[in-house]
Amino acid sequence: MVEGTREWLEGVHNGSVTAAERVEGLLETIKVSELNAYITVDERGARAAAVAIDKTIAAGRDPGPMAGLGISLKDNIAVRGLQMTCASRMLADYVAPYDATVTKHIRDAGAIILGKANMDEFACGSSGETSAFGPTLNPRDPKRVPGGSSSGSCASVGGGLADLSVGTDTGGSIRCPAAFCGAVGIKPTYGLVSRYGMSDMAMSLEGPGPVASDVFGAALLLSVLSGADPADCVTSEPGTDYTTAATGDADGLRVGLVKEFIDGVDAPIARAIKKAGRRLEKAGAELVELTIPSVRYAVPMYYVVMFSEFSSAMAKFDGFRYGHRGDADLDGLEVSVSRTRSQAFGREVKRRVLLGTYVTMREHRDAWYTRALRARSVLRQEFLDRLEKADVLLGATMPCLPWKLGELVDDPVSMYLMDVMTVSANLAGVCAGTVPVGEHKGLPTAVQLHGRPFDEGTLVRAMSAVEGGR
Ligand code: GLN
Repeated sequence: MVEGTREWLEGVHNGSVTAAERVEGLLETIKVSELNAYITVDERGARAAAVAIDKTIAAGRDPGPMAGLGISLKDNIAVRGLQMTCASRMLADYVAPYDATVTKHIRDAGAIILGKANMDEFACGSSGETSAFGPTLNPRDPKRVPGGSSSGSCASVGGGLADLSVGTDTGGSIRCPAAFCGAVGIKPTYGLVSRYGMSDMAMSLEGPGPVASDVFGAALLLSVLSGADPADCVTSEPGTDYTTAATGDADGLRVGLVKEFIDGVDAPIARAIKKAGRRLEKAGAELVELTIPSVRYAVPMYYVVMFSEFSSAMAKFDGFRYGHRGDADLDGLEVSVSRTRSQAFGREVKRRVLLGTYVTMREHRDAWYTRALRARSVLRQEFLDRLEKADVLLGATMPCLPWKLGELVDDPVSMYLMDVMTVSANLAGVCAGTVPVGEHKGLPTAVQLHGRPFDEGTLVRAMSAVEGGR
């Protein structure tokens, strides 16, 4: 049997491997890796946490549901005492003074924090190349991109440098790199997982979510991350155990094959979708064909809304409250702020701040921002309607295989268009996940499933049927 999250957990629980041994193995792999998946590795913290877990087990106490598993966190999530750079020069020296809510949950569940994962700068990108700390490489082919923006999260899981990872997804940033690195990733429904302690990019779209090497692992981490948090007022649902939903069966499930998520994808991805459909049918599901017309406009909708929220979120980085400070105090406040931002933000971040400022200016607001918001509500309604006709929706995660490093990084519009399959879930506020389905010439192929708001249980069930049982 291929080893997966269940077997790793059993190994620690029954004493065939200690948490300390597991962590040592992972730290060793990280040390020799050239993927650039981590910005910070916390060897000392990881070793100390492993020793504590082993003691808890030896004393016969419950070490928690993720005991002994090594985990990386995207570098826009606060881990007390560790650097939190958001892969930007702006925050290169910033040390988080407190734990994010998800970080606390992870510690309580017995997982061992290995370090902070590389990412696109402030989560802007689909390729993992905009980091101020250099690009992350794809674990299956280091000449290719790992996807973004949670590039290090997914490369660390796909490359065996972590058992699990927490990423964040605003328009596909968990699902795109998970698909490209052969990992499983879930974008939870907005409001299921607390955003407290994560650096915001576009607050109405984003949230943290799990990355794992199998559906069970993603369901386990989602169970740990989920739950209402008084520090994040949009969370409301109680924490739920999703692992019991990873049964591999799809009895009675109606699966919608969405034309807009299938038409025009590259041949290997189209084959993966067919295969996933067959597996679902074999597991007891019924397939129905559907269309969601406004998905065609999802990319422009997403970029207008995201640019607007992003430029506002970035306003706090002025060199006074956080991070880098330009060397221009004597020239006056405005010059100082402007120099700070010119020096410390990368090109993609600057582009987005400028465009977001433009589309929210009073004279442009109605033509762009207000219009995008209206379109967004139409899209959401279409999704909710289709999710009454089907329990989950099936299609592509990414329209193509991972492209070569450098191929699109200077062509922002082509890069934005790569998000065509992923941004709708964020705009509509539904949950979505990606599962690997085989490979093409050594590169992973994946499919995406969408589920109803807060119906992650059904999503996990369908994902486990696509994965092929257990
Ligand atoms: N690729 C998308 C973007 O560049 C998604 C980013 C994200 O989800 N953080 O905006």
